[in-house]
Amino acid sequence: MTETIKTDVLIIGAGPVGLFAVFELGLLDMKAHLVDILDKVGGQCAELYPEKPIYDIPGIPLVTGQGLTDALMEQVRPFGPTFHLGEMVETIEQIGDPLYRATTGSGKVFEAKVIVIAAGGGSFQPKRPPIAGIEPYEEKSVFYAVRRMEAFRDQRLIIVGGGDSALDWTLNLHPLARRVTLIHRRDDFRAAPDSVNKMRALVASGAMDLAIGQVTSLEGEGGQLSSAVVKGNDGSETRVECDAMLPFFGLTMKLGPVANWGIELKDNLIPVGTETFETSRPGIFAIGDINWYPGKLKLILSGFHEGALMAQKAHRYVYPEKRLVFQYTTSSTSLQKKLGVA
Ligand SMILES: Cc1cc2nc3c(=O)[nH]c(=O)nc-3n(C[C@H](O)[C@H](O)[C@H](O)COP(=O)(O)OP(=O)(O)OC[C@H]3O[C@@H](n4cnc5c(N)ncnc54)[C@H](O)[C@@H]3O)c2cc1C
Repeated sequence: MTETIKTDVLIIGAGPVGLFAVFELGLLDMKAHLVDILDKVGGQCAELYPEKPIYDIPGIPLVTGQGLTDALMEQVRPFGPTFHLGEMVETIEQIGDPLYRATTGSGKVFEAKVIVIAAGGGSFQPKRPPIAGIEPYEEKSVFYAVRRMEAFRDQRLIIVGGGDSALDWTLNLHPLARRVTLIHRRDDFRAAPDSVNKMRALVASGAMDLAIGQVTSLEGEGGQLSSAVVKGNDGSETRVECDAMLPFFGLTMKLGPVANWGIELKDNLIPVGTETFETSRPGIFAIGDINWYPGKLKLILSGFHEGALMAQKAHRYVYPEKRLVFQYTTSSTSLQKKLGVA
């Protein structure tokens, strides 16, 4: 039986806005757990443009997507948030007034007085490769993410794709797998040149295989793969024996389960008031790209402001008996103690 994780606030989405919300909540003594379907924090900044410069973060003339993510992680460190990555929040049910129970796809259960939806453009989900009959193998021997490298020890692995994920996992898994075959539709890779060079050196030394072509069908039984058929660009067909296949065809953003949480939606966004950013359900807030109000701008700085106001109202649910006193970090010793600087 899974143990229920109890927390003041559950934040759904560890993008920049979810991360900064940890800071604003922390200043007001509220502890947060964060869940994100990605295997890393930073949302769009880390996944879609880690190396691109951002020029409109107040007070920071230039920072890359990954740089901002790293800085936010440093800023929230004093508050010790707990991250649950590679997990999708699937359901939210109300069990108190307000007290919510949220459950992830893998069965993790959270109980929180406040839920903050910082789900951005929705959850990042892997693109499924165009291979007929792949569904029965998914999560049994076809995986779109690596949660535990050990699970692939001594296995014959097929990794499909030509981007950074495919190349990174090829290099990381090849030392522990029995054999790795990388399959890509052309002999030209979008991944970092250094990774491509390392992969080519492994192929040249005979430590792994590279096949140019497309996986056209899968063979196996009861969800367990035994081989994949690869069609070469010259029309030839080869059968590659394998125990598992990891396709990395990129990610798309889908609204996903947010639509099923009984919250009023407007064009796939969550309408909120601009005083508190609370949704139509008391104790559930929506901040960042996922929300809508007149004049909304989908900018990181808007999400930061929304997080600060959300925390003020969230405090009333977490500490109904306590009065909130407005304080500046520059002059409040009590805030500075929380930040570990006084
Ligand atoms: C190329 C590009 C350039 C940009 N440049 C700028 C810029 O210069 N300045 C600027 O201000 N903005 C810029 N933006 C926009 C900015 O990135 C977004 O406004 C910002 O990322 C929104 O942050 P967020 O935390 O609300 O959502 P996101 O960054 O989208 O993060 C949301 C997270 O929630 C997760 N999630 C969603 N649903 C679930 C669920 N059910 N369970 C678990 N996890 C879930 C997602 O996986 C995701 O990681 C740019 C965007 C792009 C694509």
